[in-house]
Amino acid sequence: MTDVKGLGEQAVRAIDDRRAALVKLSLSIHGEPEIGYKEHRSAAKLTEFLEANGFAVQRKYKELETSYRGDAAGKAKGPTVAILTEYDALPDIGHACGHNLIAMMGTAAAIGVRAVLDELPGRLAAIGTPAEEGGGGKVALVRAGAFADVDVAMMCHPSSRTLAGRTSLASNRVDVEFFGKAAHAAAQPDKGINALDGVIQTFNNVNAMRQQLRPEARIHGIITNGGSAANIIPEYAMAKFSVRALDRRYQQEVLKRFIACAEGAAVSTGTTVKITVHENSGYENMVPSTPLAERWAAHLGELGIPVMPSALDERMGSTDMGNISQVLPAIHPYIAIAPEGTPGHSTAFRDAAGTAPALENAFAAAKAMALTAIDVLTDKALLESAREEFDRRRREGVVHGRRAAAAAH
Ligand SMILES: [Zn+2]
Repeated sequence: MTDVKGLGEQAVRAIDDRRAALVKLSLSIHGEPEIGYKEHRSAAKLTEFLEANGFAVQRKYKELETSYRGDAAGKAKGPTVAILTEYDALPDIGHACGHNLIAMMGTAAAIGVRAVLDELPGRLAAIGTPAEEGGGGKVALVRAGAFADVDVAMMCHPSSRTLAGRTSLASNRVDVEFFGKAAHAAAQPDKGINALDGVIQTFNNVNAMRQQLRPEARIHGIITNGGSAANIIPEYAMAKFSVRALDRRYQQEVLKRFIACAEGAAVSTGTTVKITVHENSGYENMVPSTPLAERWAAHLGELGIPVMPSALDERMGSTDMGNISQVLPAIHPYIAIAPEGTPGHSTAFRDAAGTAPALENAFAAAKAMALTAIDVLTDKALLESAREEFDRRRREGVVHGRRAAAAAH
């Protein structure tokens, strides 16, 4: 019989042995932030690291420039566990979502499992998923069948709270562009059609709609083009929005109503509108696997970090990991790396993502992932209960389970 505990200890030691190199990897990605689908240097650093640690690496996995997949096989047939990384930064502000730590945690966990995989059945896939911040790398990967052979998937995200099973919002990114007619704003305003008014009216319509939305629905936008001079009636204006809700079905209803807000704004201002719902922006809501999340939490607790109870009004954003949780048992837990209350996507969070205490906690989270992955490969009952829960959710319509299809629209 396999001594699972001994193998776990060996995996943890393997991570500790490479600690200095993993810290360097995380800080190097942090110090050289690259935005979605442009993470060439980061992907290169990660794939080199995997290759040096016994993985067969495919670069540009499923034709995505900055995706990759590192594979390693155990001693016998068995399940395939995928451990995922993200490594994209935010525009201007850098690694303010701490994806450098996601990259480090995923790589460390994969290397830990790799160190004992020769003793285990099954397979391990270390998959690099680009452009989480809006570009939907996982949406594209799921659509391309990248997870067709995977049994369970896991990753860990930094946060200001440690949580095992937080959900996320379904979302879409939408651009609205209004087209009017330029004219002198003082001398011939009656000859113009004001495209900026189309944008402003869209915001007003959305604000009028808010009261009638469910509390967790979110519609938020910015104006990216509002004209060029005060004395010219703007002939072109543009805004970018995100439309989110607790589950995909309701989110699609809100999206429809949002589109009507923009179309109504065009009618009332005499402008024409072009609405673009971005490809790969259909982020589905995260439905975490309970048995896997509980197992990760138990391992993390043994490593000295207890998970926190979820708050009743737990705050959440969106993640394309939601799309993976809709097609197979998956977890996306959070590890605290900043003082509680530090907002995500802030300079404070970015700075925290490069500190020693953040790395300390990230290593514990990575070890808990490695131990959970080893459990999936060795503990049939755990995998079975994750599958049973997933199948029940599929029957109940909580997840859709379509592995290689486009996101549910
Ligand atoms: Zn993030």
